[in-house]
Amino acid sequence: MSRLSQHAQISLAIDLILFGVRTSIVQLHTGISAPILRALYREIYNGEAPVSGQMAESDGVVCTRQDVIEASLFLNLYVHIGTARVYRTINIEALIRSYKLFLELRAEAGFVCPPKIGPTEAWILVRDLRIRDVVSLRSCPCGCTYSVVLKQRLLPRCPACGADNEPTINSSESLSRIGRSSSTVSPSLISFAEEDDMPLKPQRTRSASGAANPS
Ligand SMILES: [Zn+2]
Repeated sequence: MSRLSQHAQISLAIDLILFGVRTSIVQLHTGISAPILRALYREIYNGEAPVSGQMAESDGVVCTRQDVIEASLFLNLYVHIGTARVYRTINIEALIRSYKLFLELRAEAGFVCPPKIGPTEAWILVRDLRIRDVVSLRSCPCGCTYSVVLKQRLLPRCPACGADNEPTINSSESLSRIGRSSSTVSPSLISFAEEDDMPLKPQRTRSASGAANPS
């Protein structure tokens, strides 16, 4: 590896450690070994050891309405900055920029409690945004674009008005579907609605009831 590439890797590792993601994520993006990253982390944070342990899944990141609002705000910024390409690859620069903006907007809105979505959780969401239906954005006629996570405990409804919308923005494949009839319901959406509606309410959405009682 050239000296320039090595320098770029170390530079990216420092950016990511300062940003605050787990060192396992830094390792994934830089290829630098865990012991070197741990040493780098300690050097940056005055001897403090990096956090270890298992990372949450997306459905563990988005558990409450508040989380949905925060995830929606962050992911909207990320997609806006990173463009539709973020449905295919993780854009680290867009991740860091959008997360900083997310914190600024949160502060402007008067949120004083620390965000549930930290840098590592933000990375988990952008990682899973690339996987069809695991993390997706839905557009509501009320103007809100909100996040939906596969197997989330909440009903996948608009946090602003409560409407139940079908996915419109998702992977690059879904992006190409925009403009088609809204009655198009993918099989994955049916299983999604079925799983989420089951424990929460007796009356089901049209697509969920169709899946639960096939005729
Ligand atoms: Zn709405």
